[in-house]
Amino acid sequence: SQEADMTSTNGAATDWAKRDARVVQHPHGNPQDPERLVLVRGKGSTLWDAEGREYIDAHAGAWLTQVGHGREELAKVAAEQMSTLAHFTIMADFANTPTIEFCERLVERAPRNIAKVRLMSSGSEADDEALQLVRLYHHRRGQPQRTKVLVLRGSFHGRTYGGAELAGGRPGIGDVPDNAITLTPPWPYHTELFGGENLTDFCVRELEETIARVGAKNIAAMFGELVMGPAGMIPAPDDYWPRMVSVLKAHGILFVADEVVTGFGRAGAWYSSLDYNLAPDIIVLAKGIASGYMPLGALLLDANVADVLDGAGGGGSYAGHLVAAAVASANIDIIERENPLEASRERGRQFLDELGELINLPVVGDVRGRGLMVGVELVSDKATREPLFGRFPSLRKDIDRFLRTKHGVIVGIHGGTIALTPPLVITAREVSHVVDAVGDALARVNIHTGRID
Ligand code: PMP
Repeated sequence: SQEADMTSTNGAATDWAKRDARVVQHPHGNPQDPERLVLVRGKGSTLWDAEGREYIDAHAGAWLTQVGHGREELAKVAAEQMSTLAHFTIMADFANTPTIEFCERLVERAPRNIAKVRLMSSGSEADDEALQLVRLYHHRRGQPQRTKVLVLRGSFHGRTYGGAELAGGRPGIGDVPDNAITLTPPWPYHTELFGGENLTDFCVRELEETIARVGAKNIAAMFGELVMGPAGMIPAPDDYWPRMVSVLKAHGILFVADEVVTGFGRAGAWYSSLDYNLAPDIIVLAKGIASGYMPLGALLLDANVADVLDGAGGGGSYAGHLVAAAVASANIDIIERENPLEASRERGRQFLDELGELINLPVVGDVRGRGLMVGVELVSDKATREPLFGRFPSLRKDIDRFLRTKHGVIVGIHGGTIALTPPLVITAREVSHVVDAVGDALARVNIHTGRID
């Protein structure tokens, strides 16, 4: 049976897991977890561990393997580029052809106001650079006092110190500059946040009041995830971003669209900014930009913003990495050839249709998504919408383990939400398998004991 397959071991994985525990730190992992999954191979939406056990990947290694695992085409491009010229930084007056071509292709697909690209090595680095750039922009235009930044409560803009500043600090790292001003997240399920008012009306009014209180002359920018990812895969109502951004523009406040997750088809379009008809001043990209085959991040800059910022800001040893650019271009080739953007929308709809049946389970509060950013929010009480893991913290790990060992399904669990974010090439059959597995796990949760029966 499937169950037998999942639990039989030859010890290889356990061995690796022990060695791992001795020398490798996993910042968010359990330091001594004997069940740590040691992955060795992938193809499409399938992964294999060190013992040859097979899994459906509904996680995509941090939501980024858009074109699926095991693409030899990308490996060949990397090998060819590495043998020709691997890297020479473009921080100063050097350029290279793969980077030029790749940046042209990024700009061609972007909203029309976007003119230039800065290349970084990760989303965190790109967010941090964006934070510096929005201030540099105002500084160069004679408004150095514009330092405050608007963010959505619970949003995530990277792991750097700048990211911590945008998060309003992080426990244990000491004081960070007090510049982040939080706004209510556009989280439709949590109607209690909006006091009975229409969500967008509430949020737009809050934004206007906040600007009036703080003073537009003190605010550099707003950072926003167009679909909030780490907070639980939360799409805003369709009119939310267009209305928010038009208020920002009216006050000279820059808008930074953090599309680290939503970009490159994850939410069903090249850029969600296009979906919402936005012209952000800066778009932050990473993750799907190279489908995770190379670490890569980018900033797309509005034409005017780019002009003001010429010659300002960071750069870095790895800026314009030739292998990353070549692989990322080949990733675009695959996306154009196979159209996983359409697939992302279709499979996303399938997830929502099939998961919709789970809404009657006592622990399922909400099912939502956009493209292949799908979230199942778990609650201990449907009336109060209290988070399930608030009441039963260990259940989080138990659900994760149950899905892996009984069903061979790998998911992410973020906050109180099961996140389903597979490679965009996942098949309809695999989607149904994932839904069945999640349904089985959640139907077995005993709401009184917090155990899986
Ligand atoms: N922004 C958002 C919205 C993210 O979800 C993440 C990563 N989860 C980042 C930025 C940081 O990206 P990276 O992990 O590549 O540093």
